[in-house]
Amino acid sequence: MMDECVFCRVIRNRKGKVLFENDKVIAILNIHPVSKGYTLIIPKRHVETPDRLTEEEWHAVFEAFKTVKSLLDEIKTR
Ligand SMILES: [Zn+2]
Repeated sequence: MMDECVFCRVIRNRKGKVLFENDKVIAILNIHPVSKGYTLIIPKRHVETPDRLTEEEWHAVFEAFKTVKSLLDEIKTR
């Protein structure tokens, strides 16, 4: 069995607030933010490098990005 990487661990532990999730991707607000709204968008399937992701997975990442972006914009303008 492959060792769990840092991103797989983040997905398993789910310590931050989940801003977006579907079967392919999850977006988690970081508990130790580098800056305000710092969010990790992580494909759920472990791959060695991002070029191993399928087109569908990249599409899911982009969907997550658009959702998170509008959520954070909303918070900022409040
Ligand atoms: Zn992993």
